[in-house]
Amino acid sequence: MGRIFGIQFRIHYSWFIIFVLITVSLSWQYFPYTYPEWSKPTYWLTGTATSLLFFTSVVAHELAHSLVGRANGISVKSITLFLFGGVAHMTREATRHGAEFRMALAGPLASLVIGGLFFLLHLLLQSVSEPVAALAFWLAQINVVLAIFNLIPGFPLDGGRIFRSLLWRFTGNYQRATRIAVEVGRGVGYLFVAGGIVLMFLYPGSWFNGLWLAFIGLFLTYVATASYRQAQWQAALQRIRVAYVMTTTCPVISPYMTISRVVQDYIFVSGHRCFMVTGGGELQGILTLRNIQSVDRKNWDTASVGDVMTAAERLKVIQLDEEVLSVIEQMEEHGIDQMPVVSEGRIIGLVTRDDIMRLLYTRSRLGI
Ligand SMILES: [Zn+2]
Repeated sequence: MGRIFGIQFRIHYSWFIIFVLITVSLSWQYFPYTYPEWSKPTYWLTGTATSLLFFTSVVAHELAHSLVGRANGISVKSITLFLFGGVAHMTREATRHGAEFRMALAGPLASLVIGGLFFLLHLLLQSVSEPVAALAFWLAQINVVLAIFNLIPGFPLDGGRIFRSLLWRFTGNYQRATRIAVEVGRGVGYLFVAGGIVLMFLYPGSWFNGLWLAFIGLFLTYVATASYRQAQWQAALQRIRVAYVMTTTCPVISPYMTISRVVQDYIFVSGHRCFMVTGGGELQGILTLRNIQSVDRKNWDTASVGDVMTAAERLKVIQLDEEVLSVIEQMEEHGIDQMPVVSEGRIIGLVTRDDIMRLLYTRSRLGI
C-alpha cells in the first residue's frame, strides 16, 4: 500500500473481510440501534468512517511498536493488516530485555492515548454533531479494548512480550523466558477457545461473539507454537559461523550456457547446487537451484544462465566469520536467497537458504 516512516505497509486479503464485517455491523446494527433517529445515509457514512478510523488506529498502534523498536535498534521491515488486526515484521528479535519491554509497551500505550483523544473529541462535539460524537465514542471504546486485549500476557501478544521481557530480566535466561511465555500464551489461547464455546452454548444470542472468541483463541495457540519454533531454530543457529554452512564447490560456468545444459552436465552428473557465473574473468552473478526453479521447464532449452542468474550487482556479500543468524536476518531484510562469502577480497563460497535449512534439518534429526 505504501510507506510511512520508511516502513512498508501491506494488507492481507483477510483484512477486507473484517473491514466489511465491522462497517456493516456498525451501519446496520450498532448506530441504528443506539441512535434510531438518524437517516440511512448517515448510518452508512458514519459506519464507514468509523471503520476506516479504527484501522487507522490499528496502524498507529503498530507504528508505535515500530518506531520505538527502531529507536532501540530493532528494525521493522513492514506492517501487515490482516483478519485479527496488525502485525509488525521485525528483521530480528530484541537482544536486550529493556528494548523488548519498551517496544512491546509502546503499542498498547499508543492505543490508550488514541482512545483518550477520541473520548475528548466525543465530549467536545457532543452538542455539535451527534454522528461525529458517536463515532468518537465508539473509537474511544475500541482503542481501550485494543490496548487491554493486547496486554493479555499470552506470547506473542504485546502483554506476552512484556511478560517475557520481565522473566528474561529476572531469570537472565532468554530461552527459558521464551518457553514459559509461550506456554502461558498457549494456555491463554485454550482459555479463549473454552470461553468461546461456553458463550456459544450458554448464550445462543451471542453465538457469533463466542465463535469469534474461539477463533481468536485458536489463532493465539497457533502463533504461540509458531513463535516457539522460531525461537528454537534461532537457538540452534546461535554462534554457528558462515564457514560451517557455506558451499565451496560451486563450479564456474559461462553466462551463455543454456539452463538445460547446466542441468544435464552438472546437476544430474555431480549434484552441484550452485554456480559462479563468470565472463572474461569477472564474476557476473550466481546461479542456484532456486533460480533454475523459477524458469518453466519447457523454456530450459532457450533460457541462458545469464537470463536467470542473480546478477553480481544484486548480490550482498558476507564475511567468513559472520554468524548464520545474521545471514538469515540479512536475507530476510533484502529478500534474497543466497549470499557469496568473501575472504581477503575474494569470493570463496556461497551460503544459500537451502544450506541453512539442511543444517537445521540435520540438527533436528539428531536432536541437538
Ligand atoms: Zn501491539
